[in-house]
Amino acid sequence: MLDLTYEAPKPKVIHGAKDDWELVIGLEVHAQVSSNAKLFSSASTQFGAEPNSNVAFVDAGMPGMLPVINEGCVALAVKTGLGLKAEINLHSAFDRKNYFYPDLPQGYQISQLYHPIVGEGEVLVDMEPGIARLVRIERIHLEQDAGKSIHDMDPSMSFVDLNRTGVALMEIVSRPDIRSPEEAAAYVVKLRQILRYLGTCDGNMQNGNLRADVNVSVCRPGEYERYQETQDFSHLGTRCEIKNMNSMRFIQMAIDYEARRQIAILEDGGEIVQETRLYDPDKNETRSMRSKEEAHDYRYFPCPDLLPLEIEQAWVDDIAATLPELPDEKRARFVTEFGLSEYDASVLTAEAASAAYFEAAAAGNDGKLTANWVINELFGRLKKDGDKDITESPVAPLQLGTIVALITKGDISGKIAKDLFEIVYTEGGDPARIVEERGMKQVTDTGAIEAAVDEVIAANPDQVEKAKANPKLSGWFVGQVMKATGGKANPKAVNEIVAKKLVG
Ligand code: ADP
Ligand code: MG
Repeated sequence: MLDLTYEAPKPKVIHGAKDDWELVIGLEVHAQVSSNAKLFSSASTQFGAEPNSNVAFVDAGMPGMLPVINEGCVALAVKTGLGLKAEINLHSAFDRKNYFYPDLPQGYQISQLYHPIVGEGEVLVDMEPGIARLVRIERIHLEQDAGKSIHDMDPSMSFVDLNRTGVALMEIVSRPDIRSPEEAAAYVVKLRQILRYLGTCDGNMQNGNLRADVNVSVCRPGEYERYQETQDFSHLGTRCEIKNMNSMRFIQMAIDYEARRQIAILEDGGEIVQETRLYDPDKNETRSMRSKEEAHDYRYFPCPDLLPLEIEQAWVDDIAATLPELPDEKRARFVTEFGLSEYDASVLTAEAASAAYFEAAAAGNDGKLTANWVINELFGRLKKDGDKDITESPVAPLQLGTIVALITKGDISGKIAKDLFEIVYTEGGDPARIVEERGMKQVTDTGAIEAAVDEVIAANPDQVEKAKANPKLSGWFVGQVMKATGGKANPKAVNEIVAKKLVG
């Protein structure tokens, strides 16, 4: 286990009209479990299917239907907990959260209020290369997703699509440890990265497979420290919850707006009403959705249709044995094993697929040089090529590794390597063979280089005179020789020979 260093979150201070204020933020992230079947039925979870085609009787809330727990979803929740270094509760239970909405035909959501499957854990949030901040996880519980009401397809009617009804969600609840909009976004980025490494949620925010409820309050400097000492929430301000955020940028903008709104009310002598709000990106403002007073009384009670969930430590251990190397560990290993900078290591480990690509390309090669080629050339080229994913790269790791090896051996110059890369990218083929067949090998034969230098010198007597008076101008000769040799001459050898001839 690696010993990763981290620091405490840093409060953003907002200067109000009268006072200084600090931000306090806690996130509830809803992550859709990567499962082909729903949490309590065998209906498919396929995204974008024909509306209402993936609905089992139990999802439709038909009378007398019984939910049956999907063991695979439980295993993925456990895996997520282990990935967040959290406590796994061998005993957990499901509760009914009662409310009526057309996209919830059962009339209640099955969730885990009193006994969640996962307890306290942690996420190290990366703020800049080498600096992480610790955010504690309070709990993760399993619950059902609701369906989708569609209000904008017909002027007089609403529609409902129950395909999403009953799909398994993990609700990942953080402590109010986050202190700035930037930390909130970085927290979601890191959580999403870990979930994708684990393969427990695909993290697709556009499809709503990962979305966050953002709780925001403000307090005076010093109050947060008092809350930390006592764990007494009365030191913190009253919070408002901004629902269903699925963009890192909007999360930050919503927090900023919400904090300023609360500060203006407090400085005016008013009070914050605990409520649920919605963020409107077009107007960059949050608006009240429902206040606590009008909030539903969910009348939670243990779901009588499901037995408590008892799992065994041996089963948890089996799942633990399947955990992949996680981002923090992988990044630290890349720094020590390949001599990479923290920055390069974090770019390469952002996705498990790019980390795997790099490792395969770096086998037997210089790590730093390979990292430059993956990050600058390959990533840049893929981006230009319609923002292709690394998994769609036309250049395989072995091909890139061969290009890097050819540079290291001195067979090709860095400039020729770029041409070679483009050929391999567009035409494919073995890079070493292409170099042979197309005569791209670097000229290291000093006799040939000397001849080329002599030719340039003979053809430019005026330049020679100038360069003798001002040695800085010798660079011009190097350029001419490189041009004459089609970029294939070894630049180091050209430099040396030009210097010798001009002086001599
Ligand atoms: P509820 O079940 O009513 O939503 P929770 O205790 O589950 O309440 O808290 C929800 C989220 O709100 C958690 O992520 C928590 O960290 C956060 N939170 C609690 N108090 C505050 C506060 N004063 N300011 C900001 N966030 C808070
Ligand atoms: Mg909540």
